[in-house]
Amino acid sequence: MTASNRLRIAIQKSGRLSEESQKLLKKCGVKFNVNEQRLIAHADNMPIDLLRVRDDDIPGLVMDGVVDLGIIGENVLEEEEIERQSLGMPSEYQKLKQLDFGGCRLSLAVPKEFTYQDAYSLEGLRIATSYPNLLRRFMQNKGINFRSCLLKGSVEVAPRAGLADGICDLVSTGATLEANGLYETEVIYRSMACIIQSQQPQSDEKQQLIDTLLSRINGVIRARG
Ligand code: ATP
Ligand code: ZN
Repeated sequence: MTASNRLRIAIQKSGRLSEESQKLLKKCGVKFNVNEQRLIAHADNMPIDLLRVRDDDIPGLVMDGVVDLGIIGENVLEEEEIERQSLGMPSEYQKLKQLDFGGCRLSLAVPKEFTYQDAYSLEGLRIATSYPNLLRRFMQNKGINFRSCLLKGSVEVAPRAGLADGICDLVSTGATLEANGLYETEVIYRSMACIIQSQQPQSDEKQQLIDTLLSRINGVIRARG
């Protein structure tokens, strides 16, 4: 029996989105304390449970209807959506709102020595990435062939290590690229954090709580403009 009367919200346990996700919910009046050891944090003043997980797990938890809401980067969300569509798995969700944090871009980058004209300069080359689906969609739209080197971490060291000719990775300031002798050539996807809802039918009570939460989120974001 996994259904719950309490609204379940998945947030990143620890990482770039976790603090802002918690701050947003607290600003919306949800009172909770997280225990670092615990997966679930129960709100004291509302029927809400926070599920603290790896960010990569959040889209699937929402798409499978295991949780009602999730706060996640659009990059991870769309990567998972394309992946699931190609596997014939459930990939439906409703995006309630784009949030005002977690901004970053998924970009192509190549070593300083590389003479880059445009994305076609990468024809037939090997590109290291943690986002194979977003990269493939971009390259297919342009009709460029490439080979993949799938890495979940240390993507930026792949060219120097001789594993790939270029990379497709998340960038915010570009300092990491610079430190690894790379330069950004093309933004392929711009991302912000967003809040998504499962397509699972909700009880009236839960839907009302979701509506209340969403209108408070709108208020908080408008106020910090
Ligand atoms: P987890 O342990 O939860 O899997 P992670 O290492 O995959 O964490 P983080 O590095 O914490 O993830 O990044 C989470 C999300 O933060 C990214 O998917 C992206 O949406 C957003 N983000 C914002 N700025 C950056 C950045 N400069 N680099 C990477 N991600 C960023
Ligand atoms: Zn992750």
